[in-house]
Amino acid sequence: MRGAIVAGAASALCVAQTVSATAQSSSVPIVRDAEIEALVTDYATPIIKAAGLSRNAIRIVLVNNNSFNAFVDGRRIFINTGALLQAQTPNEIIGVLAHETGHLAGGHEFKLREQLAAAKTMAVVTSLLGIGAVVGGAAGGASGLSKAGMGIAMSGPEAAMRNLLNYQRSEEMAADRSAITYLASTGQSAKGMLTTFERFSNALALTGTSVDPYRISHPMPRERIANLEVLAHASPYYDKLDSPALQQRHDMMRGKIAAYTGGGASVLQNFRKDPRNIGARYGDAIATYLNGSSQSALSKIDVLIKEQPKNPYFQEIRGEILLKQNKASDAAKAFQKANALDPRKSSLIRMSYGRALMLSGTPDNLNASIKEIKAGIASDREYPSGYGYLAQAYAQMGDMVRSDLASAEQKYYSGKIQDAQIFAIRAQRGLKNGTPEWIQAQDIINAKRK
Ligand SMILES: [Zn+2]
Repeated sequence: MRGAIVAGAASALCVAQTVSATAQSSSVPIVRDAEIEALVTDYATPIIKAAGLSRNAIRIVLVNNNSFNAFVDGRRIFINTGALLQAQTPNEIIGVLAHETGHLAGGHEFKLREQLAAAKTMAVVTSLLGIGAVVGGAAGGASGLSKAGMGIAMSGPEAAMRNLLNYQRSEEMAADRSAITYLASTGQSAKGMLTTFERFSNALALTGTSVDPYRISHPMPRERIANLEVLAHASPYYDKLDSPALQQRHDMMRGKIAAYTGGGASVLQNFRKDPRNIGARYGDAIATYLNGSSQSALSKIDVLIKEQPKNPYFQEIRGEILLKQNKASDAAKAFQKANALDPRKSSLIRMSYGRALMLSGTPDNLNASIKEIKAGIASDREYPSGYGYLAQAYAQMGDMVRSDLASAEQKYYSGKIQDAQIFAIRAQRGLKNGTPEWIQAQDIINAKRK
């Protein structure tokens, strides 16, 4: 079975590469980064467990967007890099994740809420009428959504709007209550969730030029905030702070996001109250590297490595910088260290290691390179860049058949089906009929064009 198609677009980011995935009906720019993925997963895992959901069934997806937003689509929790940057503490993000997990566990219909957010005109509500009626009919009135659908089908547009808003309100309150339960059972405070939601309920904050999508999809009437306040304060963990180690990882993530999205100026601005914070210095090192001053960036990252010799992500950045300096063998050593230090064995770091081995150019390294890249792909099958590295490594070996097959996969997961098929047809000519690789090519040839 072929997975969801990911439409690709190369980005300026080196560590965090941007691709575009079909999430919901529209596409969202996805950002990949081993460090941020690991941290957000650490935030979400206890909550997901407390909700009784299987951790492996839920994927965290980082969205490359500066505004504050988070949403779920049944099996995935999406969170904007803007939300991660704006949140001052892990607890603020954990609170939002708890609320979103409440929607997931409650089986709430995300599509309905999405459309509600956009329902500013009656025209949109009218289009909702059709959707609601169809769902209502198909599900036979079994679920909450279908009940809402039936209601719409039977009444006029104004009643429909009221109906939907009531439905949304009950889902939001249910998600709030669930979030409070998950936070209490994991011994965490709901203060961060309250801080975020209070910010969104503040009418004055609406005067900005851009409105955060989360605010639109999450109306925060006074009554809801008041309810939350009572529940949050009732917890014995209300005043409990995040551990210093977690806060530090959060600061480093913020420094990194600031550097990648707004350069040195954004790092300074985000850490103006605490310019010596390790997050600020990490962000400064990354911004220096992105700015093209790789030698200075290397000195800055080496200072941080001295402070935290076991941090895999400092080694990862070190590898990136060395690659930029065309020192592929040294870069490979840094990535190898990063991989050895990484408790999660991120596929992204493994693929970077393989890529650096390939770029170092020796025949021995080329074999090892293919092994590492393949191991990375095995646990990250929809990441186009991994196939791109593999295609390059095979081409360097002179194995054009396998290089074409890897290119076919790269194009496929970039959403370029037609290009993928051209490569797959070419690769198949050199493959033995019926072998696994031949079938792999055939799967792409058979894939439906969009
Ligand atoms: Zn919600």
